[in-house]
Amino acid sequence: MTDRSQIGQRYEELRGEQVVYAIDRQERTFLPPADHCPLCPTVPGGEPTEIPFDRFEIAVFENRFPAFRSPHGAAEVVVYTDAHTGSFATLARERAQELMWVWRHRYMELGARADVEYVLIFENRGVEVGVTLHHPHGQIYAYPFLPPVPALELEADERLGGCAPCELLRRELSDGRRIVYENEGFVAFVPYAARWAYETHVIARAHRPSLLECEPAELRALADGLQALVRGYDGLFDRPFPYVMAVHQAPTDGRARGHLHVELYPPLRTADKLKYLAGSEQGAGTFISDTLPEESAAALRRAIADAR
Ligand SMILES: [Zn+2]
Ligand SMILES: [Zn+2]
Ligand SMILES: [Zn+2]
Repeated sequence: MTDRSQIGQRYEELRGEQVVYAIDRQERTFLPPADHCPLCPTVPGGEPTEIPFDRFEIAVFENRFPAFRSPHGAAEVVVYTDAHTGSFATLARERAQELMWVWRHRYMELGARADVEYVLIFENRGVEVGVTLHHPHGQIYAYPFLPPVPALELEADERLGGCAPCELLRRELSDGRRIVYENEGFVAFVPYAARWAYETHVIARAHRPSLLECEPAELRALADGLQALVRGYDGLFDRPFPYVMAVHQAPTDGRARGHLHVELYPPLRTADKLKYLAGSEQGAGTFISDTLPEESAAALRRAIADAR
């Protein structure tokens, strides 16, 4: 019998980081057949799914197998559509734009909670990154602490003596070689020191700490930019392109800092080769890449242009 008091987070002294134990997740639904999808609508007379409606646009509910739960954070699922097949890339433009408003609302509501210091909106796409359900969806984790990646980004602000994303965007725009897409509100580029071959960052042109400070036109521009990018990804090797997409925004611990941007980490190096985190990446924390960001950016830029 498991001692439930053992579950929760533990502090790993050697690395100075939190590790979260969510052992119920072992029983979560793993790649069910399409007619047993828990993210599909509940059809009259059929088995109930997670969503008790026979149709819907975008649905948000608490994850049944949460890594975090109140009063120590939250874990939510965001279902993009009631259609089982497709992806973020194939959503109608208006639906993708509505999704930005849903993200904004969840960031606001979760971020306002006293037990939430950081809200991470993300999507895992593809079995290559551990997806257990194919229905188009993303997730939100509301952390009761500030996790290491956003903490490092805030340290970059201190190191650069101002907002790091603002400065990095300025550098990328003046260099230009790694830019893959831009519109009036956002710029997408393969970062100068990308870890993944086709890693891309999508940064708000104006200094916006979070989705809350964005104008409606900027939210539309973000949806358009993300869709253009993932359609380009799918076109690049002419196959569904796995990725992890993470929305980085200001921490919600009451101290205003941060700059809205979205980071995408695709594990593919070529059409059929994955990048694995191995000796150097895991043992030393140093990424070894066998592609140059400028070259990946050129290929991705063409794929995005072709996919439009
Ligand atoms: Zn489904
Ligand atoms: Zn900024
Ligand atoms: Zn970031």
